Amino acid sequence: MSKELKKCPVSKYCGACQYQGIEYDKQLAIKQEKIEQLFPNYQVNKIIGGDNQYFYRNKSQMSFAKDRKGHIYMGNYVTSTHQIVDIDNCQLVNKIGNDIFNTIKRLVIKYHISIYDEIIHKGFLRHVLIRNSYDDKQFMVVLVCGHSRFDKKDLFIKELLKIHPIIKTIILNINNARTSMILGKKDIILYGKGYIEDKLFDKTYRISNSCFFQINHDQCEKLYTNAIDLANIKKDDIVLDAYCGIGTITLQLAQKAKMVTGVEINKRSIEDAIKNAKRNKIDNVEFYADDASLFMKKALKQKKEYDLLFVDPPRNGLDNNFIYSLIKLRPNKIVYISCNPYTQKDDINKLKRYYDIKLIQPVDMFPLTDHIESICLLES
Ligand code: SAH
Repeated sequence: MSKELKKCPVSKYCGACQYQGIEYDKQLAIKQEKIEQLFPNYQVNKIIGGDNQYFYRNKSQMSFAKDRKGHIYMGNYVTSTHQIVDIDNCQLVNKIGNDIFNTIKRLVIKYHISIYDEIIHKGFLRHVLIRNSYDDKQFMVVLVCGHSRFDKKDLFIKELLKIHPIIKTIILNINNARTSMILGKKDIILYGKGYIEDKLFDKTYRISNSCFFQINHDQCEKLYTNAIDLANIKKDDIVLDAYCGIGTITLQLAQKAKMVTGVEINKRSIEDAIKNAKRNKIDNVEFYADDASLFMKKALKQKKEYDLLFVDPPRNGLDNNFIYSLIKLRPNKIVYISCNPYTQKDDINKLKRYYDIKLIQPVDMFPLTDHIESICLLES
């Protein structure tokens, strides 16, 4: 267990870590209790805690703003406001990532890079996003900007790379929409290959900018191991991995099952997933870029049969179309991984007439915050 750090000085204003100042064992107990209260009628296993509660994120972002006096802020939005709190050492961000953020802020000031003004929707730099590999050998920097005209680009990049040669790729992401979403649709690669690579278990994954990748490496391996063990896969099993991202669960499943199909809406993620399968020499997988509910509808029409379904949807959970097709397709087992136990509960309530809810397994993917990840095993 990592040593307890001094409470972050900006935690009062910054909305990111709700559990600052609470001992880790207590954080786990709070999460355990929340899940037990949410699922009073089911078996809830003991939450799987982490060894590191600090600096664990492999993807982080900071927003930029400038005030009337020209002071430049870099940090998170104060909860429910448009005010940014200055952060120079975030306890969730990778340590080298924190250094890179601070260098970027210094260079933004040095080269008078224009800052986006979200009221009048003018200006250049909106957010910076940094990803890193687990071994800290590869970093990706994404500059999210209101337009593509980057004054002093060459000087800025040259100096940034000189200070942090560990940065393997730099991307300009264009976001000119009036939105609180961080990323826009268009990526322009300014340096490197446009992706970094990371390892999970014995496999290497390429991760492009817009793709989802679990942000806590150690806990991700525990989450996947546990979920796959719960499924008790047989070597003849035909498996569907819905909301598969870049194929990280899909490829783990493929080692145990006969065939695994991954479906995911983000085309770039599917491109990466296909390359990841090749790179790791796994050929009993196929991937589809599609909306998961539409895919389920087509699978039903084509009379596909799955022994096992893995689902890992975004925070809003499964929609009714997905659930309708799922009940008709009726795989024997479902492993439902969720980053939002409230929507997971709603979905399970809809499924409980058709499936036995065997157990809930909470996993602490997000120490210092109130977010809870949970796995639910359902059997018909
Ligand atoms: N299982 C993966 C990804 C989980 S995150 C992992 O562990 O890494 C959820 C994923 O669902 C994201 O990759 C997101 O792009 C995808 N997604 C969101 N809406 C979707 C939809 N309607 N249909 C299919 N995939 C969707």
